[in-house]
Amino acid sequence: VCHGTGCLAAGSPKVTEAMRKALAEADLDIEVRPGIKTTGCHGFCSRGPLVIIQPEGIFYQKVKPEDVGEIIQSTIIEGQPVERLLYRNPNTGEKIIKAADIPFYNLQQRVVLRNIGRIDPTDIADSIAIGSYQALAKALLEMTPEHVVREVEKSGLRGRGGAGFPTGRKWRGAMAAAKKKGGPVYVVCNGDEGDPGAFMDCMVMEGDPHAVIEGMILGAFALGAHQGFIYVRAEYPVAIKHLTMAMDQARTLGLLGENILGSGFSFDIQINRGAGAFVCGESTALFTSIEGKAGEPRPKYVRSAEEGLWGKPTVLNNVETWANVPQIIENGGQWFAGIGVPHSTGTKVFSLVGKVNNVGLVEVPMGVPLRTIVEDIGGGVPGGKPFKAVQTGGPSGGCLPYALRDVAVDFDSLTKAGSMMGSGGMIVMDERDCVVDVARYFLRFLEEESCGKCLPCRLGVTRLREMLDEISAGRGKEEDIEAILSLSAAVKDGSLCALGGSAPNPVLTTLKYFRDEYLAHITDKK
Ligand code: SF4
Repeated sequence: VCHGTGCLAAGSPKVTEAMRKALAEADLDIEVRPGIKTTGCHGFCSRGPLVIIQPEGIFYQKVKPEDVGEIIQSTIIEGQPVERLLYRNPNTGEKIIKAADIPFYNLQQRVVLRNIGRIDPTDIADSIAIGSYQALAKALLEMTPEHVVREVEKSGLRGRGGAGFPTGRKWRGAMAAAKKKGGPVYVVCNGDEGDPGAFMDCMVMEGDPHAVIEGMILGAFALGAHQGFIYVRAEYPVAIKHLTMAMDQARTLGLLGENILGSGFSFDIQINRGAGAFVCGESTALFTSIEGKAGEPRPKYVRSAEEGLWGKPTVLNNVETWANVPQIIENGGQWFAGIGVPHSTGTKVFSLVGKVNNVGLVEVPMGVPLRTIVEDIGGGVPGGKPFKAVQTGGPSGGCLPYALRDVAVDFDSLTKAGSMMGSGGMIVMDERDCVVDVARYFLRFLEEESCGKCLPCRLGVTRLREMLDEISAGRGKEEDIEAILSLSAAVKDGSLCALGGSAPNPVLTTLKYFRDEYLAHITDKK
């Protein structure tokens, strides 16, 4: 039974409870009594609560507690699926029995999400049974730290938090700085996901906390770090709970803490809860917050790999980046580099939301066309019309029109199109959505989240939002567009951190691709 946050909100705990009760009371004349496993997010959030009957992989959607009796009688006792709970292909009307045959699942390639939906994230034995911590054993017993770094470099892995900086190069930079300076190196996991509509990292921490922890231990081994931090926003209580349980269990088994697996290498992790400021996802603000001060960005004259937490060399990677590392060590950097496209290797996890049939968590190889995600996996816009635009990269990203539906979803192609990968939020809009409103929404969000430390962001974002308010209310003038472009350039150039530096992006891409819509507001006065 899916116990990801989406399914929890849709009522899955009541389904689990009903199932436990019904199974305990059922008179089952079968060899192996079925058990119930509660898992992290299966990804198909718009269909929850989800129940999957294994090992057949029968997929039941929108399950209610009153359906449980029929599921047990029909599926478990008689071996027949409950037709009305099956997924129906919206185009053909065909009912699909198994999850693996549903386009939402079978068009994906799951590397980061491979264990989510299969394991009980609160039971380390369940994770170990399907391979967790094997990469750690391999690294500690068969590899040197240098060998680990080389595999990460070979993989071509780029940071999944937004900037896409090569992970191996970041690690190498921290190693060089540590050698020069001496003293400690820190590894930090950025779990402060705050983009509107994004929930990928939350689902990874909730559904497979061991992948993140194992990735961090591997990174620490490579870098010679003995202390790590996971910065998670406090609005993610299930993620915090599962990470805490996973770390406690890992310590008990000698996988974390002193003398890991008898190798002589020691490393431990502390969780820091963020209070929900979006700006704390920015590296320097995150470090300042962990150091116990107000989470404000600070000027960044040198990379944090050289001077990060408490001024020491620090490797900060996000949740998805760390979760990729065990797979790279287990299967080799070459294997990872074979997925995706040359400068964007591996897969990327997206949270697909908005005006799309299949809202949920999606993982695809880098470089697939945008329409594969939105139309083939996402099932397109309800009602079958083409989508109008897709916002990628969250509030710092951009709005791509339907005409760019074939754009390859990788770091460089999205940047070239005027947007960005960001951390993986993807918001689909249809013809009823006004792009001026969309840009206003993101500006208002950033206006509220700006820490106010520097003027171009503090006043510039507010002024941009005010100008868009005027246009939206039919009080705009044509010359406002030039003023918006010029102020956007000043905000981008003059802001201290990436929040202000990228704040005008949604305005700039909507102006680039939907200028007519702005002009319609101005000339039609509506
Ligand atoms: Fe604060 Fe904005 Fe300046 Fe960043 S750009 S330091 S969020 S005021």
